[in-house]
Amino acid sequence: MYSALKLGLCLATILLAACAPPNADYDVVILGGRVMDPETNFDAVRNVGIKNGRIVAITEESIAGTQTIDASGHVVSPGFIDTEQHGLGPWGIKVNLRDGVTTQMDFEVGAANIAEWYAARQGKMQANFGTVVGQEFARMRIHDGLKLEGPNVSMPHFFDYRAEAAKDGVDGWSVSRSSVEQMNEITRILDEGLRQGAIGVGSTIGYAQKGITTYEMFEAQRAAARYGRLTAVHHRFHPSAATPTEAPTGVNEVLVNAMVLKAPLQVHHDNDYGWWENQEKLALAREQGHNVWATYYPWIAGSGNYGASVVAPDTWEKAMGYKYEETIYDPQLDRYVTKKEFLEFKKNEPGRTLIAYSPPRKQWLPEWTKVEHFVIAGDGMPGLDIKGNRLGWDAPYEDFAGHPRAAGTHATALRVARENGVPLMHTIGQLSYWSAKHIGDTGLKAMQERGRMQEGMVADIAIFDPQKVTEHATFKGGTNGLPSTGIPYVLVNGTIVVRDSKVLKDVYPGQPIRFPIEETGRFVAATGESWLKTYTIKTNPPTIDIEDSVLNPDEAKGATTGAQSSLAPETRPEQHKVTIAKGESAGGLFVREPEALAEIAGHSHGDDDFRPHEPIDAHSIPGRRDDQFAMTATD
Ligand SMILES: [Zn+2]
Ligand SMILES: [Zn+2]
Repeated sequence: MYSALKLGLCLATILLAACAPPNADYDVVILGGRVMDPETNFDAVRNVGIKNGRIVAITEESIAGTQTIDASGHVVSPGFIDTEQHGLGPWGIKVNLRDGVTTQMDFEVGAANIAEWYAARQGKMQANFGTVVGQEFARMRIHDGLKLEGPNVSMPHFFDYRAEAAKDGVDGWSVSRSSVEQMNEITRILDEGLRQGAIGVGSTIGYAQKGITTYEMFEAQRAAARYGRLTAVHHRFHPSAATPTEAPTGVNEVLVNAMVLKAPLQVHHDNDYGWWENQEKLALAREQGHNVWATYYPWIAGSGNYGASVVAPDTWEKAMGYKYEETIYDPQLDRYVTKKEFLEFKKNEPGRTLIAYSPPRKQWLPEWTKVEHFVIAGDGMPGLDIKGNRLGWDAPYEDFAGHPRAAGTHATALRVARENGVPLMHTIGQLSYWSAKHIGDTGLKAMQERGRMQEGMVADIAIFDPQKVTEHATFKGGTNGLPSTGIPYVLVNGTIVVRDSKVLKDVYPGQPIRFPIEETGRFVAATGESWLKTYTIKTNPPTIDIEDSVLNPDEAKGATTGAQSSLAPETRPEQHKVTIAKGESAGGLFVREPEALAEIAGHSHGDDDFRPHEPIDAHSIPGRRDDQFAMTATD
């Protein structure tokens, strides 16, 4: 498609500018493709002219440029935007470019040291990059004592930090509850990240549901809300199907916070039990003007290993009702295993990789492709080989060992949607526009000018064959990381980075997706004093002397009165001693129940179902078969 003749002439010419054809008004022209724009529903064969990184012409007239792409028979689409991509090393970014992804961000784990993080990536990324500030990292600082310095406190290095946090045998970030002062320190870290330009707050509360209280989560979302920015969440109880910890309960928590705070919310990987309920609530909230949405990845299996408790007979057989020979696939054997084989591997090779199919997802997947505002995010994991070594940019695609969603998510979505008669414009909305729209609506300019094929927009573009585009990454060993085909050209900020289905080496057109750094932060400590002043009426005489007694543990000693106890029994001095360190941010009102205090004095361990080091990828553990869905699906 690219004019090899023209390139040859260019290379032979000393002055590059001299090789542009006469009247080359553009840096790049894309000729004769079907241009599709989900925002305006524009859908027609046009020529596209690109200059200085922008789409400057979408026209029927013939145009010429320094570089020419013949896009006949192909769709010219806004580049895909992935907000949950953990495979952010050179190999992961490369394979995702083959999948059409021009903006690759991790809104789940996020990063620490936001300004440094962006600075270190400037001019060095093949795709656009951006991050949220990570709640988990903030908790590691406060509850595990980690310093977390430098620009790489993010994926793909994240698991190194989890390992460091676990060195003392306790994942403080996961299981430790915060005192009021610690909660404020965590919120202060989030605020600092937002001040430095983070896109929002990223929460992994689903891995820290023992440690993060509802009030701490509310405060985390409020930190982002003070800037009008999003919180993105791997929510509590994901993907439980059991009452009273059903997954939608975890969505309720963050959705209520988002609604009362009038704050944007992205729910991660809503492709398990209860997704229909979550989608319905998000849609109803959007109807009321709330900027809330969710992502999914279009795969019917998760990956993990034989030692994971979720696939042990008690859970897998008894609670989920699955049969091993129908659901547990061994990528090395390339077949399903019997229960006997499963138990042998569990005993002898607990770290061995397995693929856990989720029978209900077969039924769910085609429906996900039809839901509006349900955006596709790969949830791709870091590029590692079978021995756990990091893959370099040049590593063969065959060497990747992991869930194929790291490589083929976006082409899979296009294929599944095609096979199910989904209008292509809708699918491009899921792949690009709706992410740009919702994130842009938080005030982020970089997303207001992406995800759209319109004059004036940034030229992030994926060019694909709508009939043939498909994934090749599968669950079978040796194929996990095979790149998608049918997406021969990808442009990032107007620069061709995939040409004739090859990623160009040492081409780094990726731009930062971020907010500007602000002079001052917006942190406000949560205190009992401010709570009482805001939410209780004034009385004469005042019930308590808030300034002097309640908030200051030392002065409160011996000052306990009947009136005090009746307002806030937890303000008894001995409780202050345990839970509130001295300091201006101490808030006596938020103290815990006495019997629970002993627990937070030391660490406690997480609940078995949601162990943070659970080797199976908990994002993808299937939910129980669901009758409610079966009913609605036949309507
Ligand atoms: Zn997750
Ligand atoms: Zn994830």
